[in-house]
Amino acid sequence: MRVKCAKVLSALAAGLFFTSAGALAAEPPKEMKMYVFTSGALNLDKSLIQNGASGKVQIPVGFFLIRHPKGDVLFDCGNNDKIITNSDYWGPFIAALDPGRTPDIAIDAQLSKINVKPSDIKYLVLGHFHVDHAGNIGKFLDSTIVYQRDEIKNAFWPAPGYATFFITDDFAMLRNGVGGGMPSKYKTIELDGDLDLFGDGSIYIHRSVSHTPGSQIMVVRLPKTGTVVLTSDAVYLQENLDKNILPSVGSVYDPVGMLDAYAWVRRVRDTEKADIIYAHDPDVFKAHKHSPEFYE
Ligand SMILES: [Zn+2]
Repeated sequence: MRVKCAKVLSALAAGLFFTSAGALAAEPPKEMKMYVFTSGALNLDKSLIQNGASGKVQIPVGFFLIRHPKGDVLFDCGNNDKIITNSDYWGPFIAALDPGRTPDIAIDAQLSKINVKPSDIKYLVLGHFHVDHAGNIGKFLDSTIVYQRDEIKNAFWPAPGYATFFITDDFAMLRNGVGGGMPSKYKTIELDGDLDLFGDGSIYIHRSVSHTPGSQIMVVRLPKTGTVVLTSDAVYLQENLDKNILPSVGSVYDPVGMLDAYAWVRRVRDTEKADIIYAHDPDVFKAHKHSPEFYE
């Protein structure tokens, strides 16, 4: 009994596999592939994403497609394509974040590189609802949208001081019409915890109260590449993870939770020799293969 408890506890501590022990032993489907896409870049003060840093930094805005035999899964969906032709949509962010706005970064254009259309996506998993991660939700209303309940509640009515990076029009269309009992008009998986999306351990979504109230980190276990961790903004830069540096106060809803997220990511990295793709690390992003190349 004691041994059994210890095993369960250590699995819980690892934050992995507790939905089914079989997930650890399961082989990822051999057809699985992962693609890295770009939604352009932002130019901002580095101190925003790394407390105490100075100067400007240009950071990538990435999103990811995982092709699984049970359906295509998109993790995050970049900046809203409207800003390519309409700078008013982002209000003060156009000046403050100076985003890339060339037509090739439109999400349709990116996905078309591998002949995928937004309507092909079965699940849209959101790392969080900020402007540069959830911008194009409105193009995926045929998909099942996967998020934490705390995240969507906070996106609609953020905690004081934390409204800055949510653009309500990016996700307002999700809200059901008058008289509907369910808040969402569309198919959703509203979580309050972790989810092994296909039950085979290959796509594992981890809840993290950190950068935002309901951030999600995705662990992807590929047949040849092995484990990849997609951090969304729970970790901005590799240096932040390595040195335990938090971002500025406006970029971290729960500082202790963010340090917990760092520890969780390090644990997955160490136990599974995982590759980590940080949300906005320019060097790490550049070092990875971009679509139409892929990881298998
Ligand atoms: Zn963010």
